[in-house]
Amino acid sequence: MKITEHIKNAKGKTLFSLEVIPPTKGTGIEDIYRNIDPLMEFNPPFIDVTTSREEYVYIQKGNGLMERKISRMRPGTLGICASIQHKYNVDTVPHVLCGGFTKEETEYLLVDCLYLGIDNIMALRGDAMKGENNYIPTEGGHRYAIDLVDHINDIGRGKYLTDEKRCETESKFCIGVAGYPEKHIEAPSMNYDLQKLKEKVDAGADYVVTQMFFENRKYFEFVAEARKMDIDIPIIPGIKPVATKGHLSLLPKTFKIDLPEDLIKEIGKAKDNAEVKQIGIEWSVNQCRELLDFGVPVLHFYSMGKSDNIKKVARELF
Ligand code: FAD
Repeated sequence: MKITEHIKNAKGKTLFSLEVIPPTKGTGIEDIYRNIDPLMEFNPPFIDVTTSREEYVYIQKGNGLMERKISRMRPGTLGICASIQHKYNVDTVPHVLCGGFTKEETEYLLVDCLYLGIDNIMALRGDAMKGENNYIPTEGGHRYAIDLVDHINDIGRGKYLTDEKRCETESKFCIGVAGYPEKHIEAPSMNYDLQKLKEKVDAGADYVVTQMFFENRKYFEFVAEARKMDIDIPIIPGIKPVATKGHLSLLPKTFKIDLPEDLIKEIGKAKDNAEVKQIGIEWSVNQCRELLDFGVPVLHFYSMGKSDNIKKVARELF
């Protein structure tokens, strides 16, 4: 079922959902199940599965030289989506990237989604490849997420890259796109970034999921500005409970977000990561309570492979 239908059917009640990351190559699917099992009591109607960019790996050659190759360390997004749907009977949302895929590869992936009964796609540009400073569009691939939104809509209408005429079958995907309450790092201004979001919505995006944020004020302002621009689709907040001292630098570096001073101070006082985890849980609970009062359609949790703290947060809310 489409995410927009799940939201409509909930009749104003806030839903719980989560995002999981494929394990590294060679790890079994049980790793993902261990991540999801503890959270099923909160009845997520959908689960997102991320896609990782490919990266450079260096392989030792016998002659003392190294060979540089490109590899995807966490493949399997679509296979994981199919397994989760089969095991838990919930909808899954594969993240589909521009970066690293040609248009043909994207098309084959979308065709697989149709066969697997996947109704929702998260359309993303992707970041720069590890080891590269800037995002470089893949040769033969899409440049921006909006191009991907167009392509996904074409497939839904039965229009394929090499076909001039429309096919008989129509199966419109429900399309999610990314939004940034603190602005996307490459956008020259918030207004510019919101204009680009509006273009994705006008192209046919059905809902927005935000980058993680730790101050609700930023989400509220983002939603208010988006509404002024007639972006009237659901804007789902992304939540991440801080769990380790290392997150103080990892989260801003990876996700290009700020942490609030109060939270930084609290974490600074913690004597170990067990204390940090508790601080993160309390922070998220307070954040989510305010978001529930605001009437958000879904609280979407970034699990990053860990569920115990999300479970503690969700127990206080659902
Ligand atoms: P776009 O919407 O294409 O925007 C990228 C930048 O270009 C922005 O600065 C925008 O303002 C600008 N822009 C957009 N369109 C145009 C245009 N037509 N002309 C000029 N400028 C333009 N990354 C992964 O690798 N895998 C994942 O699974 C993943 N999941 C994510 C889930 C969520 C909810 C979010 C918020 C992010 C996720 N990301 C993921 C990160 C995302 O890929 C990066 O933030 C990426 O840098 C931008 O993606 P986007 O889809 O927002 O890009």
